[in-house]
Amino acid sequence: MRKHNFCAGPCTLPQSVFKEAAAAVENYNNSGLSILEISHRSDAFVAIMEEARALALEMADLQNKDYEALFLHGGASMQFLMVAYNFLQKKAAYLDTGVWSSKAIKEGELFGEAIKVASSKDENYNYVPKNYSIPEVDYFHCTSNNTIYGTQLKEFPQIGIPMICDMSSDIFSKKIDYNQFDLIYAGAQKNIGTTGTALVLIKKELLKKIKPNVPSMLSYQTHIERKSMFNTPPVYAIYVALLNLRWLEKQGGISATESKNRKKAALIYKEIDRNPLFYGFAKKEDRSMMNATFFLKDESLSDKFNDLWQKAEINGLEGHRTIGGYRASMYNALSIESVELLVQTMQELEKNI
Ligand code: PMP
Repeated sequence: MRKHNFCAGPCTLPQSVFKEAAAAVENYNNSGLSILEISHRSDAFVAIMEEARALALEMADLQNKDYEALFLHGGASMQFLMVAYNFLQKKAAYLDTGVWSSKAIKEGELFGEAIKVASSKDENYNYVPKNYSIPEVDYFHCTSNNTIYGTQLKEFPQIGIPMICDMSSDIFSKKIDYNQFDLIYAGAQKNIGTTGTALVLIKKELLKKIKPNVPSMLSYQTHIERKSMFNTPPVYAIYVALLNLRWLEKQGGISATESKNRKKAALIYKEIDRNPLFYGFAKKEDRSMMNATFFLKDESLSDKFNDLWQKAEINGLEGHRTIGGYRASMYNALSIESVELLVQTMQELEKNI
């Protein structure tokens, strides 16, 4: 029995990806070797790495453009540090939309001035600040989707300075103009694949701005020169990312996945707004298509509701420990049927009180 997994990340992936990834652990491509025991310098793995990098650029519609793709260690959190280490000369501007932006700001402060251009902390990050101005700085950093609060940036400022975006929880979920960013990074464990690597898409032009004396392992230049193979890369995580990106392409790419994601989000938000027992956390205009956050109006119903969704084989609906309540994470691989089932359990609660 497969559970309906609404986990915020690591999250559900397509069944076919689980099967192919499992088969490769026993015998990769009939080679008589496991994917876990081949050299990262072998032809087999170099081909995996090159296809994964090319597909990632293709999904973002950045192929043939002046961008490079890297799969690096350390997750998105390492990118908080690498971005500042490479590019923060004096001052950088950050949009503070939650825990993850705050962690990026903290790393920035190690290297210079990290200015908060705006923050939604005043309302526990349930909205996205708008109408802020960005001063002349080394770069502007924002988080496109705030996984914990269920808010999402629908527009990005048009500025003449390098734009850096943490897209960990909504990359490849909808069509956007990836070309407007100079550097995009994302932990892999949501829409890319499994944990163990972060994808970085970087405009080659930006490399000119790398500061001197950045340690080799933390320099984007090193990783680009060595085609993301400076040291032993996270082979298995990159293979899973490749399988997942191939799946995404087969589904019809990002536009097909976007229309499915829009349907899922419409279903859950319709029920949150209709059902008198629940209310949504994020301001309506800033609601995320990936993570829907909601609460019971009457907390005393929580045992009953928890029992209902757990009996329905739903997993991972608990809200993040910092805000509580519920969070339905609906990344690319989650089916519409899973969301329909969740809506039914919310309706069942209403009928049974
Ligand atoms: N940024 C965002 C938006 C996230 O959701 C997360 C984790 N869920 C992170 C950064 C941190 O990612 P990692 O655990 O890969 O460092």
